[in-house]
Amino acid sequence: KRKNHVDIIKKLPDNIANQIAAGEVIQRPASAVKELLENAIDAGATQIHLVIQDAGKALVQVIDNGKGMSETDAILSLQRHATSKIKKIEDLFEIKTMGFRGEALASIAAVAEVEIKTRQGDQELGILIEAAHSAIQKQEPCAAPVGTSFSMKNLFFNVPARRNFLKSNAAELRHIIEEFTRVALAFPEIFFSLTSNGQEMFHLDQGPLKARIVQLLGSNLKSQLVSVNDETDYINIHGFIGKPEVSKKTRGDQYFFVNNRFIKSAYLNHAVAGAFSELIPKDNYPLYVLFIDIDPNQVDINVHPTKQEIKFEDEKIIYAFVRAAIKHSLVQSSVAPSLDFSL
Ligand code: ADP
Ligand code: MG
Repeated sequence: KRKNHVDIIKKLPDNIANQIAAGEVIQRPASAVKELLENAIDAGATQIHLVIQDAGKALVQVIDNGKGMSETDAILSLQRHATSKIKKIEDLFEIKTMGFRGEALASIAAVAEVEIKTRQGDQELGILIEAAHSAIQKQEPCAAPVGTSFSMKNLFFNVPARRNFLKSNAAELRHIIEEFTRVALAFPEIFFSLTSNGQEMFHLDQGPLKARIVQLLGSNLKSQLVSVNDETDYINIHGFIGKPEVSKKTRGDQYFFVNNRFIKSAYLNHAVAGAFSELIPKDNYPLYVLFIDIDPNQVDINVHPTKQEIKFEDEKIIYAFVRAAIKHSLVQSSVAPSLDFSL
């Protein structure tokens, strides 16, 4: 005879689902920095201020002069899978924005207190929204400049285990500066500032990429950068490499961007290192800030929630192209002897 059975599966309430999912997107204050800066960029901002307190543990605030949000959108923005950036499945293969997953703000709202102040250009008043535990606490009109200010306060106030897992302020600040640097390098046409505990650490005027690199990575680089610029029908690369003299013993300043998105790729690092191989000591790492532009449907950026790992449709072609482009620049700038020109 069949035993009495009891159904035990329940669909989790949104706030719990959000809190679980948040772990993948928001690991530390720097993760919020990345997401919020990217949202400001997607909103078309030309000026972006990042304000942090206590290495982001108390406050991460991004203030932009982008297009702002309507009241309904501002409320909806905190919900999971709520996005203005994709509508249909095909859009996933044509992504031109930094965001598209509609997860960041929902994740932040699940593990921190949130304050949004936003106003659209055609509105007289803005809207203020406060939320905690994924629930709206306050929603009222307010005076605000056009654009959006998004504050994440007291990260992990409701997840003590995660809060305790955060590193020292010095370490968390380093992570924040790293994310800030990646985004600021990719958008030299946007003004950025970073203010930490009331002190302005970076003030990056709009300008050419080279100036931005020097501002962020060191004034010693001013005369040490070699430009890279190559293209085929399929792919193009531009940016700068450091002369062999500025290579370092640590893998510090190596930046690869694919369609303006910072990525980590041991494979591409290897391609660049190969081009430098005769020019720097074996245990040294060359400096570079390189941008690859390729048809979005040739790459899959949806491999990981933070979108830092991507898959190329044809990795080998890209490897060879990058390596040849770097060699080409080294030879053209007479850093490398032309005899060494080989693929
Ligand atoms: P995604 O960026 O993947 O769409 P988010 O959770 O980061 O998801 O944001 C949700 C939505 O909120 C965005 O699609 C956008 O419409 C809106 N939004 C977020 N930040 C801003 C901002 N700074 N300015 C204007 N709209 C924003
Ligand atoms: Mg986003």
